Amino acid sequence: MIGILLNDNGYEQDIRELLMAFFPGEGFAYEEAPDLSLCVVGRLSKDRKSFAIQVVFRGGEHCCFRSTIPAERRELDHFDEPLSVDYDNRPETKNKIKRRLYVILKAVTGKSLPWGSLTGIRPAKIALTLLEEGKTQEEIADYMKEMYFADDEKIRLCVETARRERQLLSRFFGCPEKHAEGYSLYVGIPFCPTTCLYCSFTSYPIEKWIGHLKEYRAALFHELDYAAEQAGRHPSSIYVGGGTPTSLPSDELRLLLEKLTHTFDCAGAAEFTVEAGRPDSITKEKLAVLRQYGVTRISINPQTMNQKTLDLIGRQHTAEDVQERFWLAREMGFDNINMDLIVGLPQEEREDVKRTLEAVKALGPDSLTVHSLAIKRAARLNTMREAYRDYKIVGTQEILDMTVRYAREMGMEPYYLYRQKNMAGNFENVGYALPDKECIYNILIMEEQQTIIGCGAGSTSKRVYPDGRIERCENVKDVSSFIERIDEMIERKRKLLEYSF
Ligand code: SF4
Repeated sequence: MIGILLNDNGYEQDIRELLMAFFPGEGFAYEEAPDLSLCVVGRLSKDRKSFAIQVVFRGGEHCCFRSTIPAERRELDHFDEPLSVDYDNRPETKNKIKRRLYVILKAVTGKSLPWGSLTGIRPAKIALTLLEEGKTQEEIADYMKEMYFADDEKIRLCVETARRERQLLSRFFGCPEKHAEGYSLYVGIPFCPTTCLYCSFTSYPIEKWIGHLKEYRAALFHELDYAAEQAGRHPSSIYVGGGTPTSLPSDELRLLLEKLTHTFDCAGAAEFTVEAGRPDSITKEKLAVLRQYGVTRISINPQTMNQKTLDLIGRQHTAEDVQERFWLAREMGFDNINMDLIVGLPQEEREDVKRTLEAVKALGPDSLTVHSLAIKRAARLNTMREAYRDYKIVGTQEILDMTVRYAREMGMEPYYLYRQKNMAGNFENVGYALPDKECIYNILIMEEQQTIIGCGAGSTSKRVYPDGRIERCENVKDVSSFIERIDEMIERKRKLLEYSF
């Protein structure tokens, strides 16, 4: 248990996130307790102009961190010097505190993190903003090294991805300006065949809801009508996710797509994606429905092609099912198929990931998204920690490097990048694609380049203002609450979106 003892909580979350990256899986306490192994003590001065931060080990008695650091690691002086801060300037103070804490923790643990003190989920957005300011690749690299202590490989990936994003946004909007007009539409279908072990999304087993899909449909359609009335019939891109939308029975899927194509100009959107993530949800009939209504991109996600792992993580399908459904989709004319993989799944080592990559390469998808396992609070893998305590979770840079090699061998380049909290090894998720097969929606949402209207349980709407400011509103996740409170969900959106279209 790690203690975070602060006399002001303004930057508590930033401190906790960095500690989580150094000590994955540790719990936190916010007051003195006998079982604390280590405490971070932060003191803001009365005039709010300086902030002192100290790491203290507990070994019966408090002792200053300085004396616990091996002599050869005491490379930096002035650890004890309070930082001079303008406490209300958030970005600057946050960076200062995290940099100082990073230096101390690195010295104390002898460990460095690939992304340095950067714990945010959008590292490419930093590089993209600097590119837009006219900075060169070298200047951006220097900045990220100095500001966050990120390692060279991560900086290279970040800048390469940002350059690609800039090209794609420029092509998509016809100019390189970042705050585009218009909006994109997200539709959430919160059902799946079963719940995966690591799932933290809004997802409920379809069987439980099969008798109430009509009510969900009515609420969702009401919300879609509002979105079209408020924002117009012409979204730039459409993404139907969840959950797994193809978990819906084919007649329900048809009604949904019919509603979407009647309410919005789907054919005029740059892309129309429907997640068909779980192979056990895909049938020929459902694929035919997707084709009929002009869906341009689908996702068929193996996560792993190792049967033992598929069984372990609660996906009730085989590796052969993935192959079969993939070829079926190809035969039926889908020419933009994404596949998602996860590195760091329980009990998987380098060779298992290699087997998966070989199998995926043989299929030849158009894009590949490689996730590092993130153990979120709501996931079974976390809530039932004790039951899964003995599972080995391996996520290493070497394995990630192998995924990069395979993606490049398949002719793909990285085009979007994001990170999550609590990731195995504190790494990143990277989207790779063949030329012209990138998903523009992924860039828009990750780099916060355009307003997104989210409809359905668990979806988030995000308004992007011309000056870069961002406001959000969320729909409730619980399906019954969503149905009952649909007018409130619409009202939340109205407040967020009025005067914007
Ligand atoms: S397929 Fe995705 S959304 Fe569905 S249960 Fe698995 S992780 Fe969750």
